[in-house]
Amino acid sequence: MQRQRPLVSRTMPASRRLPSLRKLIVPGVVLLAFWGLGFAMWQSSGYLTALFFFGYIGTAVGVGLGLYAALPKQKKPLGRRLALLLVGTFLFGFAALLGQENMQIEGFWFGLFTGVIQAAVIHYLIAKLLGPVLFGRLWCGWACWTVMILDLLPFKRSSGRLKGRWGRLRYAHFGLSLGLVLLLWVGFGYGAGAAGRAAVVWFLIGNLFYYALGIGLAYALRDNRAFCKYVCPVAVPLKLATRFALLKVKGDPARCNGCDACIKLCPMDIRIPDYILHGERVLSTECSLCQTCISVCPQDALKLSFGIDLGGKDLLRQRTSTQA
Ligand code: SF4
Ligand code: SF4
Ligand code: SF4
Repeated sequence: MQRQRPLVSRTMPASRRLPSLRKLIVPGVVLLAFWGLGFAMWQSSGYLTALFFFGYIGTAVGVGLGLYAALPKQKKPLGRRLALLLVGTFLFGFAALLGQENMQIEGFWFGLFTGVIQAAVIHYLIAKLLGPVLFGRLWCGWACWTVMILDLLPFKRSSGRLKGRWGRLRYAHFGLSLGLVLLLWVGFGYGAGAAGRAAVVWFLIGNLFYYALGIGLAYALRDNRAFCKYVCPVAVPLKLATRFALLKVKGDPARCNGCDACIKLCPMDIRIPDYILHGERVLSTECSLCQTCISVCPQDALKLSFGIDLGGKDLLRQRTSTQA
């Protein structure tokens, strides 16, 4: 009697059953880059904490990215959730509350003006300026403690961007934040918002404001990422640095059948095929490298890739008048 072959080998090629090693290149590079950075900072400053700090973040993001690559499609979001939780709670709880540092953008300004080179200054230089040149807005998809909460809200499927210039509000927010700290420092000689007890108060009030505004906007616009799209001031430096990002989403135009599944599920409303079909990588500085488009593409036409090109071209899906 002829032996039956297991069903799985007839329905699924071996390459799809196991995560190919290629898919683990990006998680591995991210993990090693953070450990390398931590090692360099430990050697140059003598602070062993730097090795632990960056090593922990690199391991959390690398493991999250690795799980995302390895898990079956329906379970992939778990990898991202895990990374967001591990990094978000670590930075929020360990660095900010226990370490008494203001990791909000105002803490960065206070630290910069008063010459207090503490966690917020290092965090902004690494995660918001230098990091994005290598890894784009990986921070926004995998590490931000604001989105760690906002992504739990029920409006995961965006209806598109609001028409008009609403995205410019974040530049106004960025300017207001800078102006407030400058006024306090120059006008009143106040510079205690970077480290110490006052910094923790600044940090908690700033975060409460972000969470309240982010949740309110998500419900008003039925979009978990509304805060990111319209008002987050941190997006300003992130968008600037991400223009030069080496890591971006790349597509194979020969495989794309124009089904638009990626556009419908992209949390940042990016018109992915419009780049792919023109032979470009996704050049939008709105991309958070969440990889949702990659995992939902039925043609396996998309992947992460390292390369050199200039970003900044934002092709975004807008709301129709009935959705506005
Ligand atoms: S845009 Fe702002 S709130 Fe949104 S993920 Fe990025 S840093 Fe976080
Ligand atoms: S999901 Fe894939 S096949 Fe469909 S439009 Fe997007 S890239 Fe093309
Ligand atoms: S383009 Fe893809 S990776 Fe970028 S935000 Fe949209 S779904 Fe995420």
